[in-house]
Amino acid sequence: MLSHRYKHNAKFRQFIAYFSPVFFGAVMIYAGYTVGMFSPATIAGFVNIVLIGLVYYSRKMIYGIALFASIFTVIISYLTFNGDIRYAPVFSDTLTHSEFYHNPFWIKSMAEVYLPILLTSILFFEILLSQWRRREMKIKKMSQTDALTNVFNRRYIGEQLSTLESKKKATYAVVLLDLDYFKKINDDYGHETGDAVLQRVATILCTTTRIQDVVGRFGGEEFILILKDQNLQQAIEIAERCRKIIEQEEFELETGKILKTSASFGVALSQENAKKEYIIRMADRALYLAKQKGRNQVRNYLELNLKPAV
Ligand code: GH3
Ligand code: MG
Ligand code: MG
Repeated sequence: MLSHRYKHNAKFRQFIAYFSPVFFGAVMIYAGYTVGMFSPATIAGFVNIVLIGLVYYSRKMIYGIALFASIFTVIISYLTFNGDIRYAPVFSDTLTHSEFYHNPFWIKSMAEVYLPILLTSILFFEILLSQWRRREMKIKKMSQTDALTNVFNRRYIGEQLSTLESKKKATYAVVLLDLDYFKKINDDYGHETGDAVLQRVATILCTTTRIQDVVGRFGGEEFILILKDQNLQQAIEIAERCRKIIEQEEFELETGKILKTSASFGVALSQENAKKEYIIRMADRALYLAKQKGRNQVRNYLELNLKPAV
């Protein structure tokens, strides 16, 4: 109930992520000791808690706690066999009136038959879970990236902008860029060459921006950069750097001919209470201005005749 109540509280979530596995691990050791370390209930409980933990929490932490709990199990078992402590005090008290009780046949049968079966179950579960995690990551990546250029797709860009929009104090710049006369590249050299140019431009944008910046394909031959924590001047500088590299890049065709291209850029800055659509519109208008002024240049939203943000 508490987890549900505070599910949006990052601090609580972090606390619960550590507290729950440690708490359940400790309870398991204690409960396991009182009802018998090798009782089917304890072993099934131990295994199930590890399995549930693996689904919900960090795998490293769960295995760490499981290892810790296993060491305790071995110590308690050793002390039990040695006669230093009683086996399963709860049952010892009711069945034997506090006299020492332990049944080696029972304990051995559990330890040698039941335990290996359950540990094998954990192993297979772990394999299944790893496959599932890998598939999940693959599906997530596929849903976020553009198949041709491997940069983020428009859906992911929209999500990122919505997140930034919800953080009222976030400042970020949006850069839209569109390749110049790209249709001609397709017409003159074929669609495949056009695709290769798009891929190279995407690589240039990724290597020219910082790790925290987001590079996406916004449309056919149109890309977008979301530059976090940047002022207008910095954003213009990054756009200018990208423009120069794209302009200088040489694409060697199979015929040996060198193909060159260029791009036009529009830069806009986030403004308080402005919707993401407004910022994109400003960047797009600045891009249009760059096209109008002769292409292969960077223009920004302050060069437009702006109405106040809505
Ligand atoms: P401008 O300088 O005004 O932007 O001219 P442009 O030729 O780049 O603009 P236009 O919008 O007329 O052409 C864009 C072209 O991009 C048209 C389309 O065939 C091409 N295109 C869109 N997506 C892809 C793609 O995935 N691969 C390839 N090869 N071409 C694409
Ligand atoms: Mg174009
Ligand atoms: Mg275009």
